[in-house]
Amino acid sequence: MISISCDICRKKMDEVVTDRTFFYYANRSMCESCKDNLEYSVKPQVRAKEPFSMEWYEKLMRDTLDKAAQKGKF
Ligand SMILES: [Zn+2]
Repeated sequence: MISISCDICRKKMDEVVTDRTFFYYANRSMCESCKDNLEYSVKPQVRAKEPFSMEWYEKLMRDTLDKAAQKGKF
């Protein structure tokens, strides 16, 4: 059995299903609720960004994840 812990909230996840109960972005593992919080926190910025660029988006995701990992939440 694979056991992974969420890099943000440190919750232990057992029997994870990638892209269902477990998500992986920018070298970080995330549980489902942290992934929802991540989307929620970047959405307004993504919507306001004009013109949109993938490079900018990836940096935003990395920065948001780095900050959240330090704080333990989004
Ligand atoms: Zn989590």
